[in-house]
Amino acid sequence: MKIYNSLSRQLEDFVPLNPEQVSIYSCGPTVYDYIHIGNARTALVTDIIRRYLGYKGYKVKLAQNLTDIDDKIIDRAGLLGVSPSQLAQEYGEAFLEDAKKFGTEADVHPKATEHIPEMIALIQTLLDKGVAYVVEGSVYYRVNRFPEYGKLSHRKPEDLLAGARVEIDERKEDPRDFDMWKAAKPGEPSWESPWGRGRPGWHIECSAMAMKHLGETLDIHVAGEDLQFPHNENEIAQSEMVTCKPFARYWVHVAFLQIDGTRMGKSEKNFILLRDALNQYPTEVIRHYLISAQYRHPLDYNLTGLEKSESALRRLSNCLDALKKYDTQVEVEETTTSPLQHAVQAMKSQFTAAMDADFNTAQALGAIFTLVSEVNRSLTAANGVPLTAFAEAYRALTEVCQVLGVYSTDAQRADGDDVEQRDHLIALLLEIRQDARSRKDWDTSDKIRDRLKQLNVEIQDTRDGATWKIVS
Ligand code: AMP
Ligand code: ZN
Repeated sequence: MKIYNSLSRQLEDFVPLNPEQVSIYSCGPTVYDYIHIGNARTALVTDIIRRYLGYKGYKVKLAQNLTDIDDKIIDRAGLLGVSPSQLAQEYGEAFLEDAKKFGTEADVHPKATEHIPEMIALIQTLLDKGVAYVVEGSVYYRVNRFPEYGKLSHRKPEDLLAGARVEIDERKEDPRDFDMWKAAKPGEPSWESPWGRGRPGWHIECSAMAMKHLGETLDIHVAGEDLQFPHNENEIAQSEMVTCKPFARYWVHVAFLQIDGTRMGKSEKNFILLRDALNQYPTEVIRHYLISAQYRHPLDYNLTGLEKSESALRRLSNCLDALKKYDTQVEVEETTTSPLQHAVQAMKSQFTAAMDADFNTAQALGAIFTLVSEVNRSLTAANGVPLTAFAEAYRALTEVCQVLGVYSTDAQRADGDDVEQRDHLIALLLEIRQDARSRKDWDTSDKIRDRLKQLNVEIQDTRDGATWKIVS
């Protein structure tokens, strides 16, 4: 199995440190808002790497952090008039809900504010080694003490300097130096430290949380391509100067999800929230769409693509529904004689070959849908196709589809149907409330609003009509 390693800029054979515990770390969101589907692409790629390694027989531990203290959180909380911790709590919970619904939940989701002592310990070690210095209660990393600085982003020292000079900070010895601890400012959240009250910088969070939950050397580190420099570069500089060991062995960077050729991002204001997308389409459709390109290729998010994913998944589930009855009735024999059985074997080896080639999900889906067409032909021809071949096809297809998370079991689907039913009922109640309001029947209107509130459904009246959301 080969993985493209950003560190070497080459495809490398994947050899884990310990096959009993392959460790994966994924840079998670800053929780000042709901996550968008660009964030979701990176989380999904991580999830698929994890599932595929499981399919290959490895035991995997995945950690994905939540950055719950940061300038963006403080600024947004200020705008909304809530405390930064309240804001981070609310969006942290929302993120975990989204991850659960999207099937990308990690084994652990560490929060930055719950790892302050670990961060302080790393910073202290770097100070003791002379790799950091204190200026007025802030602590900076001394980049010129790490000769390999720039090895991940492949930047030359002069490029690094030019980039860093954009933001001149007189307190730094070298423009490339970065802060690991920020001295407290009035009104901002802060924690005690040997250098006075303050809060951690962003990069030190990931070093501390990754090493605490996964050990000093990780197998795979995943992030969106925007984080390669400076965030991931700084994670390496901090961690490796503390441990004198490689921090991560394979660095995976996910290309951007785009809208009309532009990166989807909060600051670009062109984002679509994952929860909105999941309200419109089933989880499997969004997952299918986001893996329809291999992860190192940018992917444009558009309706035509989503509709194609929707119809592809309809084809897949129709095929699996038709095959299902053979699974329960037929003992699978380990012989491959019929053309359909050959097609099943071919699908399995093409799927593995595609996924082994740096997780080429586009090709893996191609192999799956080739078999779907073959099954459909066999189902209509039926004559002469051994029933065991249908059972084999069913088992092979459900297995690989679950690796990609594009097929849900009956129980999961029933859950989705319940949600759809609920949404229809709420829409009906809002319609009745609207009729009452046009008759000036305020009692009925208020009663509907209040009773829905008791059921955790909050109605908001806007100029374009009433909208609703689930509150907890
Ligand atoms: P953030 O909250 O911006 O730190 O992002 C959380 C994760 O999503 C990081 O790994 C980012 O690199 C990743 N990410 C952000 N925007 C995109 C995008 N448009 N496409 C793919 N990944 C993204
Ligand atoms: Zn990170």
